[in-house]
Amino acid sequence: MRVLVTGGAGFLGSHLCERLVEEGDEIICMDNLITSDLSNVSSVKDEGKFTFIKHDVSEKIKIEGDLDFVLHFASPASPVDYLNHPIKTLKVGSLGTHNTLGLAKAKDAKYLLASTSEVYGDPLKHPQKESYWGNVNPVGPRCVYDESKRFAEALTMAYHRKHGLDTRIVRIFNTYGPRMRKGDGRVIPNFINQALSNQQLTVYGDGSQTRSFNYVDDEVEGFLSLMKTDYPLPLNIGNPVEKTILELAEIIIELTDSESKIGYEKLPEDDPKTRCPDISLAEETLGWRPKTDLREGLVKTIDYFKGRLDSK
Ligand code: UDP
Repeated sequence: MRVLVTGGAGFLGSHLCERLVEEGDEIICMDNLITSDLSNVSSVKDEGKFTFIKHDVSEKIKIEGDLDFVLHFASPASPVDYLNHPIKTLKVGSLGTHNTLGLAKAKDAKYLLASTSEVYGDPLKHPQKESYWGNVNPVGPRCVYDESKRFAEALTMAYHRKHGLDTRIVRIFNTYGPRMRKGDGRVIPNFINQALSNQQLTVYGDGSQTRSFNYVDDEVEGFLSLMKTDYPLPLNIGNPVEKTILELAEIIIELTDSESKIGYEKLPEDDPKTRCPDISLAEETLGWRPKTDLREGLVKTIDYFKGRLDSK
């Protein structure tokens, strides 16, 4: 297949590009590099079947030749990044989704939208099933990500219903692994880097909020399975093993054998109190479930950051 991956130089995008190159696909990786880095695709950039184009997909996209699949993964995704780039985040979820859907329609290509568990907001139902409509503050600081992804889902469904476009929507829950940026502000890179340098781990609030962390390789296998189906409605891909943030901090201190202590800081506004995917639909529809245990995935991620203590 000839595949366009937007956001292909980001954390998830780069793992996806690598995996698709392995499958023998030809990849066009498009990224504006505002929160990503070309070094993420260094293992595939010299492959004959890989092309990088620096472009902001919120602007019109031109691709020569045929395309079989458009994978729209471009967006700042860490709360710190999307709060730093609020307008670009809204634009890539709205204009970027419109441009990529229009391109898929023009090329008669299949389409996959990378959406997010953030569409459930601070959920009132637990665990979250795809049928839950969510509890999002439409004007709070996080709305720039939540609402742009909710709009992106609505636009994708409209292209599916109105134009018969062959679309898929994946709701991605917290994912971690090598190539997260050290300074992206998310909890796993923060805690690992704090622990490795024996600094205090910054737990926001009292640490009783929960998240459910999926290792990147499992997440990417879920995307590949979804690409092979024609299931058009949103599908959760995540790991249902739920931890409090305090538990996560303790596990990371133990795995890094660190002297670090835990410090408490203010909880960001609208920080979801719980988050856990119900993955029964993914299990039924794709036969997919995550394989990597949290500790096993964290050890690989710790090894990655150990080699990059001086990075940003
Ligand atoms: N968090 C924390 N300390 C940090 C970074 C994050 O306690 O240094 C908390 C954050 O408040 C949230 C959870 O960890 O409750 C996950 O945050 P992250 O930014 O990784 O992603 P989110 O799931 O909020 O998008």
